[in-house]
Amino acid sequence: MPQTLIIGAGQAGLSAAAELRKRKYEGSITLLGDEPAAPYQRPPLSKAYLSGETPLDRLWLKPQAWYEKADVDVRTGVRVSALDRSASEVITADGDRLAYDHLVLATGGQARRIPIPGADLPGVFVLRNLAEADGFSDALQTAQRLVIIGAGYIGLEVAASARKRGVDVTVLEAADRPMARTASALLSGWFGAIHRGYGVDLRVSTPVSGIIGQTHATGVELADGEHVQADLVLVAAGLTPSTQLAEAAGLAVQDGILVDNQARTEDERIYAVGDVARFDLARYGRSVRLESVQNAIDQAKAAAASICGQPTVYDPIPWFWSDQYELKLQIAGLIEGADQMVRRGDPEEGKFALFHLKEGRLIACEAVNSGPEYMAAQRMIAQGVTPDPERLRDTGVAMRDFLS
Ligand SMILES: Cc1cc2nc3c(=O)[nH]c(=O)nc-3n(C[C@H](O)[C@H](O)[C@H](O)COP(=O)(O)OP(=O)(O)OC[C@H]3O[C@@H](n4cnc5c(N)ncnc54)[C@H](O)[C@@H]3O)c2cc1C
Repeated sequence: MPQTLIIGAGQAGLSAAAELRKRKYEGSITLLGDEPAAPYQRPPLSKAYLSGETPLDRLWLKPQAWYEKADVDVRTGVRVSALDRSASEVITADGDRLAYDHLVLATGGQARRIPIPGADLPGVFVLRNLAEADGFSDALQTAQRLVIIGAGYIGLEVAASARKRGVDVTVLEAADRPMARTASALLSGWFGAIHRGYGVDLRVSTPVSGIIGQTHATGVELADGEHVQADLVLVAAGLTPSTQLAEAAGLAVQDGILVDNQARTEDERIYAVGDVARFDLARYGRSVRLESVQNAIDQAKAAAASICGQPTVYDPIPWFWSDQYELKLQIAGLIEGADQMVRRGDPEEGKFALFHLKEGRLIACEAVNSGPEYMAAQRMIAQGVTPDPERLRDTGVAMRDFLS
């Protein structure tokens, strides 16, 4: 009987297991994860779980009974320490050896730490997993002043959740605008204003040089020497992909494990999926490592299809969402490379969409509280639509009119 081993019991690992069974894979499936918990959703950790609106039991990706029914052997608290490719085995931290015919690396990543003095002080947190979220949430209960280093999505979502819990929040961002890595300047500026409106002290172009404190963090030192006081510091500086196993086993790694459009590494029995994988996104003509639920699910499906001998080509339109206060931001496609932006709706009303075109063709859409625009944009990008900008701007023209 063939055996598939999956390392990493997160969204991508679980999705690979589920898709294998959906495609009637008849071999054994073992899902190994080093966290104590069964696979859970990470997005609420900075949103509704942190603000207290979503309880723990709503985080599980599958109920316990599913694993038995699907015959997926999920083993939590098991860390894989090495791959032995010549023996087709993985070696756990306890020294156990497990054989595989196919191996899926779904190891995700860890919150990036920043190499500044004081970064290891008690009271300094990162947020990637449930244990970190619980520790941070407990500390937030008695904190009055939170400083967040980094104004990416997680930093801003935590800022919104902490404001809901009545905490004073300062966000320090080295770049000249929030969400600079993926959002347009207009969207960044608009979200920045929203946060300031909710009382967040959001400072851009503000690099930090250290965290202050003797036995516990008491503040943050800025590069210009100013001190910002804090009871609690969250470092929200992005993700370091967990590529060590692949690298030590001689697989190609470049800020992510390199895979093809079936999620295969250069070793045809080994796949990599989710946040840890880098691949060529043909549709956008560039190499990407995507950190999103969409990618974790769909790339894992591609790997499972290939393992089942039913290969598909993975060339997605990336999509992502972020919840901040009462705002739902949804992004379809990648903005980089766009040469024209069309705004539909009024930002003053808290409901608008920004369409990004390249040589007339729609390549991305940022939608705020605008579900129909976002849904239509996904299909328009897939269809390669070249919309008339004037009509696109006109909210009197229905979005469906742009679809063939
Ligand atoms: C706070 C937060 C908010 C987010 N919000 C959004 C959002 O709004 N929208 C969105 O689309 N995406 C969001 N994301 C991103 C999304 O959650 C990730 O893209 C997705 O979880 C990636 O899944 P993954 O399975 O690739 O990696 P992970 O979820 O990181 O899972 C990898 C698992 O592998 C384990 N592992 C690693 N190495 C080993 C080893 N050697 N042995 C055993 N186990 C190992 C890890 O501990 C981990 O449990 C958010 C992420 C975070 C942290």
